[in-house]
Amino acid sequence: MTEKIPVNQKLLSENDLIAARLREKFRQKGIIVLNLVSSPGSGKTTLLEKTIGALKDKYRLALIAGDVQTENDADRLIRAGGSIVRPIVTGGACHLDARMIERSLESIDLDKVDLLFIENVGNLVCPAGFDLGENMKVVLMSTTEGDDKPLKYPAMFRKASVVVINKIDLLGLSDFDLASARRNAREINADLIFFEISCRDGRGLDTWFGWLTSLIEKSGNR
Ligand code: MG
Ligand code: ZN
Repeated sequence: MTEKIPVNQKLLSENDLIAARLREKFRQKGIIVLNLVSSPGSGKTTLLEKTIGALKDKYRLALIAGDVQTENDADRLIRAGGSIVRPIVTGGACHLDARMIERSLESIDLDKVDLLFIENVGNLVCPAGFDLGENMKVVLMSTTEGDDKPLKYPAMFRKASVVVINKIDLLGLSDFDLASARRNAREINADLIFFEISCRDGRGLDTWFGWLTSLIEKSGNR
């Protein structure tokens, strides 16, 4: 097993080189890039569908949807009105890496993009270790999961800038405690920004859209 360590380090440093190249390109083009991560079933695709609906007439969105086996999520984003949607089917790999993103970007004209969302594979473990050149990692949690997720997956919450807590319409139906979730996350990373939303009844979504809008407006692309 010990021989594996240098190999992983080499892979990671190669990833970091590509990610740095991507980040510089995004900066030059004034594009905001958000890497959306969560466990399976937290509602990443649904949140992106809502976000497309709210912002597509005002801003130019691009979406890269990572999935292990299917293009179902990408198809949903296209049906929601996404005009630039690219699937990445990892064929078993449980995370996206910077090389996959670079390849996917070959078919996207970045001069026509204000905001790029990357929907990562549903997994809170290894996506933490792969920089994709994003401005921020956004972790989506939901009230149908444990509120101790930040303590179980500290690396991800340490690397993230934003936590979105989804399905708040279901609060009270499970043991999920909003205050505990926030406290657990802050214990790992005191700088986290929080959003509390329900994609089902729409609560909190305007605040999320407003925040995205201010990011785009500040990016210098508009
Ligand atoms: Mg999805
Ligand atoms: Zn992985």
